[in-house]
Amino acid sequence: MNLHEYQAKELMARHGVQIPLGYPATSVEEAKTAIEKLFNEGHKRVVIKSQIHAGGRGKGTFKDGFQGGVHLADSINDATAKAESMFGNILVTKQTGEEGKQVNRLLITSAEEIKSEYYVAVLLDRAKGRPIIMASAEGGMNIEEVAKESPEKIFKETIDPDLGLQPYQGRKIAIALGLRGRLIGQCGKLLQCLYETWAECDASMVEVNPMALIENEEGAESVVALDAKMSIDSNAMFRHPDIQAMRDLSEEDPLEVEAGKFDLNYIKLDGNIACLVNGAGLAMSTMDAIKHYGGEPANFLDVGGGASQEQVKAAFEIILSDPAVKAILINIFGGIMNCNTIAEGVVAAAKETDLKLPLIVRLEGNNVEAGRVTLAESGISLITASSLAEAAQKSVEAAK
Ligand code: GDP
Ligand code: MG
Repeated sequence: MNLHEYQAKELMARHGVQIPLGYPATSVEEAKTAIEKLFNEGHKRVVIKSQIHAGGRGKGTFKDGFQGGVHLADSINDATAKAESMFGNILVTKQTGEEGKQVNRLLITSAEEIKSEYYVAVLLDRAKGRPIIMASAEGGMNIEEVAKESPEKIFKETIDPDLGLQPYQGRKIAIALGLRGRLIGQCGKLLQCLYETWAECDASMVEVNPMALIENEEGAESVVALDAKMSIDSNAMFRHPDIQAMRDLSEEDPLEVEAGKFDLNYIKLDGNIACLVNGAGLAMSTMDAIKHYGGEPANFLDVGGGASQEQVKAAFEIILSDPAVKAILINIFGGIMNCNTIAEGVVAAAKETDLKLPLIVRLEGNNVEAGRVTLAESGISLITASSLAEAAQKSVEAAK
């Protein structure tokens, strides 16, 4: 589950990470109150930040032509006008795709005088089987490009999960980033707090880009998190009701949200062959087989090992609400699953939705004979296949 910047910052702050003072807003009135509060507290400049589940906001463009999803403002009027231009407007960034994302929330923070920008992230290194902290002095930039063109500019420390990020490791990174004197200890501490946020929140990733070296009016320097991105491992959500409450369904794919209600594992993809499969492994092989024959899967869908007729029906409806779908491939291996349950679910859904699309079915296993009879006697037109290869091949042809 992904979080908004203001939510990630709140969790980081709880674990001791320094962040600029700021307030989230869900309406122009709330934004205005936050802006006035910051100016009245003595801040001379504020930042208005669009809150969407996508990065690259600063360089993004709104659909009405307004440039930039992150703006500095020097007065209450200027800040309020900018907040008004952003609310309800659709922001297109490198990460949103062409359709963009509607801005329904803003974060208003005090603006800091930035001297340098850095990149830091904590994530899991699957090859090492351990968390790592990654940092670069090339902050603000696209880290994938840095990784590709000048990998020596990215510093990594492997973390022992039993010990956490050690103070010397934090200092080592701070020095590698070019920080000196007192700032080495301060940055090291921030990195330790960042790791603790990652570990205690069961995050799969936390990213701060930029972590910035800032200077206050008296000329004192410090390191703070100016931007924050965070995703939580959904499998651990039961341990974090407070984080669960931060979920913003309007940022998620509506079909995936619907699938979640029925305990279906659904992920929408870009192709036109819908797949309804039981078991994640079989679902993956089915997608591979479709690709092998030159097709593109429209989704990943695992109905689970013991799906009910109701779940099958829900799965079918979710598949059909994707207008890109041109053919449906059902590939079921009945181990625990009763093939006839699937067949009855499919027939009910096909009739209810008045299915016009080609339907390719491959059933094997538990009670398969009854399932085949159910399908054959249903009167719905379908293409049957006896192997995965045949089913994939027929689906690719049908989708054409
Ligand atoms: P992103 O574009 O979605 O990654 O959003 P960021 O939060 O990283 O903001 C984009 C850019 O806005 C940053 O890289 C900074 O250069 C700038 N920015 C954000 N906050 C401040 C601030 O407090 N002061 C100044 N001067 N610039 C800021
Ligand atoms: Mg950023």
